[in-house]
Amino acid sequence: MKTYHDIATDGGSDVVGQVEAQSDRLAGRLSDVRRIVAVMSGKGGVGKSTVAVNLAAALAHTGARVGIVDGDINGPSLGRMAGVLEAPIRRKGAGVLPAETSAGVRVMSMDLFLADETAPVVWDAPSQTDGAAWRGLREAGALRELIADTEWGELDVLLVDLPPGSDRLPTLAGVVPRIDGALVVTIPSAVSMSVVGRSVRLMQEHLHVPSVGLIENMGAYVCPHCGEADDLFPSGSVDALARGLGVRVVARIPFDPAIGMAADEGRSFPQDHPERPAAKAFFNLANDVQSMMDQL
Ligand code: ADP
Repeated sequence: MKTYHDIATDGGSDVVGQVEAQSDRLAGRLSDVRRIVAVMSGKGGVGKSTVAVNLAAALAHTGARVGIVDGDINGPSLGRMAGVLEAPIRRKGAGVLPAETSAGVRVMSMDLFLADETAPVVWDAPSQTDGAAWRGLREAGALRELIADTEWGELDVLLVDLPPGSDRLPTLAGVVPRIDGALVVTIPSAVSMSVVGRSVRLMQEHLHVPSVGLIENMGAYVCPHCGEADDLFPSGSVDALARGLGVRVVARIPFDPAIGMAADEGRSFPQDHPERPAAKAFFNLANDVQSMMDQL
């Protein structure tokens, strides 16, 4: 079997030209985007997308122009969580306009293109054994297209909600011209935190992401009646992890059932409940992210 390197010419398909054209389109599309920030986690289910959506809403609430793209090509959920699943996809020139939330956040996610919410994203692979490698390639290509074909307009921050796992950041690094910051979401459990260390070191040592912060999610529960906070895990573990890695804990978001309810209804939690401790934590995080990005 011939490999890519054995092929003397590309048979007239101009693969290199196509990739270059897409990279040029991407660079053009992102020229009005001031900062690109990845939101990631080691494990699934720790609240990464929840943090990304609520941070975007809080940033928009404070006047920033914010976009958010769902890096999860196979299990997209951002359209639903941001409450824009019903928004019609509109074309503009050679691209599409992002959906916009009531708070003004511009959203792009594969779930906006699926016929219904149960429709799976299916990749056609040359054979089943090639499936994993093929899927990886196709996912990176799809993420590039999702970003490059969206008319973002002028943005202060584009948040990229990446699927869990430390291998996703290099994929993003290969797609966008630069990553200005990364926020790593974790719950204070040993299993979640063990993967976080690997991701942070990868960012610092190999990808040279200039600004990295940890976000503790669901570490505490705030009683809705008395307002008192109770730890759900032994306290201090995320601080110890952050100290060991030389990064800051930039936010602590307590568990609040209203967050889950807002996500299920596609409503903006910080907008609906600005007085709740978790909403205040999102607003503080938005301010922190803005000043981190200003300092670069
Ligand atoms: P991930 O993106 O890491 O897979 P999600 O953002 O989908 O995780 O969150 C998983 C579940 O936890 C969702 O049902 C979400 O509503 C809930 N959740 C996340 N963070 C909080 C929080 N701080 N308070 C209450 N529920 C939360």
